[in-house]
Amino acid sequence: MRRLDTKLMHPRDQITMVIDKIYRSGLTTTSGGNVSIMDEQGDIWVTPSAIDKGSLRPSDIVVIRRDGSIEGRHKPSSEYPFHKAIYDKRPDLKAVIHAHPPALVSFSIVRQIPHTNIIPQAKYICGEIGYAEYELPGSETLGDVIAGEFIKGHNAVIMENHGTAVGGFDLLDAYQRFETLEFCSRTIIYGNLIGKPYYLSNEQIEAFEDQIPHLLPEMEQVEHPSDERAIREDIKRIVHRACNQGLMISSYGTVSVRWRGNDFLITPTNVARWNIQHDDIVQIRDGKREPGKIPSRVTWLHQEIYKRNPDVNSIILTQAPYLMAYSVSHEKLDVRTIPESWIFLQDVPSLPFGSHFAGEEVILDILSKNTPAVIINNDSVLITGDKLLGTFDRLEVAEFSAKSLTMGTSLGSLVPINDHQVEALRKKFLS
Ligand SMILES: [Zn+2]
Repeated sequence: MRRLDTKLMHPRDQITMVIDKIYRSGLTTTSGGNVSIMDEQGDIWVTPSAIDKGSLRPSDIVVIRRDGSIEGRHKPSSEYPFHKAIYDKRPDLKAVIHAHPPALVSFSIVRQIPHTNIIPQAKYICGEIGYAEYELPGSETLGDVIAGEFIKGHNAVIMENHGTAVGGFDLLDAYQRFETLEFCSRTIIYGNLIGKPYYLSNEQIEAFEDQIPHLLPEMEQVEHPSDERAIREDIKRIVHRACNQGLMISSYGTVSVRWRGNDFLITPTNVARWNIQHDDIVQIRDGKREPGKIPSRVTWLHQEIYKRNPDVNSIILTQAPYLMAYSVSHEKLDVRTIPESWIFLQDVPSLPFGSHFAGEEVILDILSKNTPAVIINNDSVLITGDKLLGTFDRLEVAEFSAKSLTMGTSLGSLVPINDHQVEALRKKFLS
């Protein structure tokens, strides 16, 4: 996938790319949802009304010029009035996404606002969430009610019995906010299915920001031999695959692969994960970073894991929706569900929030051949392994197990594989 470049790509190409991503991520139906961008001339580019969201082309995008004239092959979205109302009231916003993603609609129909302190980055990315009361779709009044929430400073609003409207400083920013908010909502809902979600305090969220270690020094000379470039390609592919498979969201997730000795390559910070390209990935050599690049904020943890575990050659730290149900409810993920899950994961301990903070030893002490994965409460799941594809497979197995367990709660209690059966698995597959 090419990069979504909000500086150089034409608005109609950006919109097409993002609506396609929204549709393929299951966040809108064919007919629902609309996306717009206001450019520097004050022209608003918007998705057309009643055209298939699954096959939209750049030439389908409509523009409403500053003077009100409309150009394009179709009619603009019927929800255009509220996009315009948002831009009028909040000139700092340059992109708006509206859709009816399932989890946010769940909140909107029970008339609640998702509490973004469920995971650490969401409060910062989504801000305080507004709430717009029900009004007729496409009406001027709906525009007034929504814009009335944005003018209070909200960048994301729940629309009662309807969906959500999210603004951004560019389309990448808006998409990240939209996706993160839907992810929060899913996590809260799934957490409620298996237990009770716990929320982080503002102090805990700030504590993460406060502990981020100083950046590693920059290396003077950087080389990219073929084996190093091959790792870049592997990381890029796996990150994109994880995003496409619903195992990673824009705003969180780190992937690294050991290169030579304890040197490795790692994903950067502050780049939307699905948008990562070869040149975003950061080389870490002899404790120094590639010049001009900012590696993940948990680089120190990856560095320590490689130093202490010679068998670990790749690490994925991510938020996958069903694993996060366990992470936020602090329930134990029992992987004695099917043979594959136990063989791949054996035991997945839950660790308190903060276990991944700089200088903490708990993750480093607990990871071993028999414990390749841990869940960090209200934060993420960390999976280690040899080859990156194998580590990714392990993540998929873990997420599938968590999904089966979550869905199974509506049927009855888990009947796990017993000790005797586990022993037989150990003998046959792990010794
Ligand atoms: Zn709508």
